[in-house]
Amino acid sequence: VTAVEVTENSLKRINEIDDKLGAFVSIEADKALEAAREVDKKLQAGETLPDLAGIPMALKDNMCMKGTISTCSSRMMEGFLSPYDATVVERLKANGAVIVGKANMDEFAMGSSTETSAFKLTKNPYDLERVPGGSSGGSAASVAAGEVYYSLGSDTGGSIRQPASLCGLVGFKPTYGRVSRYGLVAFASSLDQIGPFTKDVEDCAIVMNTLAGHDPMDSTSAKVEVPDYTKFLTKDIRGMRIGMPKEYFGEGVPEDMRKCMMEAIDVLKSLGAEIKEISLPLSEYALAVYYILASSEASSNLARFDGIRYGYRAKEFTDAIDIYVKSRTEGFGDEVKRRIMLGTYALSAGYYDAYYKKALRVRTRIINEYKEAFKEVDVIVSPTSPSVAFKFGEKTANPLEMYLSDIYTVPVNIAGVPGVSVPAGFIKGLPAGLQFIGNYFEEGTLLKVAHAFE
Ligand code: GLN
Repeated sequence: VTAVEVTENSLKRINEIDDKLGAFVSIEADKALEAAREVDKKLQAGETLPDLAGIPMALKDNMCMKGTISTCSSRMMEGFLSPYDATVVERLKANGAVIVGKANMDEFAMGSSTETSAFKLTKNPYDLERVPGGSSGGSAASVAAGEVYYSLGSDTGGSIRQPASLCGLVGFKPTYGRVSRYGLVAFASSLDQIGPFTKDVEDCAIVMNTLAGHDPMDSTSAKVEVPDYTKFLTKDIRGMRIGMPKEYFGEGVPEDMRKCMMEAIDVLKSLGAEIKEISLPLSEYALAVYYILASSEASSNLARFDGIRYGYRAKEFTDAIDIYVKSRTEGFGDEVKRRIMLGTYALSAGYYDAYYKKALRVRTRIINEYKEAFKEVDVIVSPTSPSVAFKFGEKTANPLEMYLSDIYTVPVNIAGVPGVSVPAGFIKGLPAGLQFIGNYFEEGTLLKVAHAFE
């Protein structure tokens, strides 16, 4: 088959099902077909092509691609035309990737169900009455429903791993600094990372080979050498030490989820891994720390949306202050406003020491706790999410309940270590993922365990 044929098939599938599924906010058919034609030309000329050449994929709508619209699923950015390519996009293009469109998400990546999108709901392909998870719900649904072969998401507190778990996919969050954030619209700059959604671990390793590496355009990008991740896929994990934190398998885990996870752990044992019980006592503070830090950083990052420089501007106003107030009132949705208010409060004089500074201190201790744990074990295992896909509206009335969806994923972003969700089984017909957490820049080790397990 030719790249053009594969791309046409992908576009056809999107045409047929996306009205119902709602994974995409925009389609770039012309650009995709043009990229595919380029690949076919090179193929006919006898060139050897990179692994990703000619394969249709989707980007979360918070990543810039030159000449296309990036909205972050917010009215605030409706119609925003990216003047440049994000580094990940540049890398994908250099490898012949065919980008077919931009995927729906929670507004500015704030949420765990994609329900805060200003534009549409994305359905879970396993059950159209349920959420795909979030915030990268469109990216997950597009791969799970076979519209594209892989996609990119961003993960600030779980937004790749949790939707991967709910949609039966592999979702990978690299070490902070491993993949460039240049061209990713910032949510919480000290936590955000880009990573792939794929159907299996091998595809994940291949996409990571393209994404990872130092980028001078991102000052937090790490100068750490990138190995060939496919070399780790040996299936041999005998003698590997896998830590089971007792806090992650304790009372909060529903019985059916625990059963599914324990079966997965038996698989790891049968593969010759050594399961060790460990303790991460600071885990109970992770959600509090995350929601203070993420909201604080978000309130600062989103200050740039003032109705003047770019983005939505209110139609009627009296003076400059009125432009700010009306544009932000009309342009942002409720969840975004909630985060801005929480963050502004935590950062304000008089509260800074009590909230923001304290959260930073606890963050340092959480980092140390992970560093200590990785002296004892090679990887850590946990559920990805406390639940399988839930119904639309089930958690929207109570934001705190929605925040609880992230209980197992946020500590990983706080520490900055890599994490991956791998399909572990089904609970009443709905997929559930197992999370592996690795040491800094040990993406290869994570992929090795995930590959042996899947
Ligand atoms: N659900 C979390 C939040 O709402 C994580 C989001 C994310 O990782 N982008 O902040």
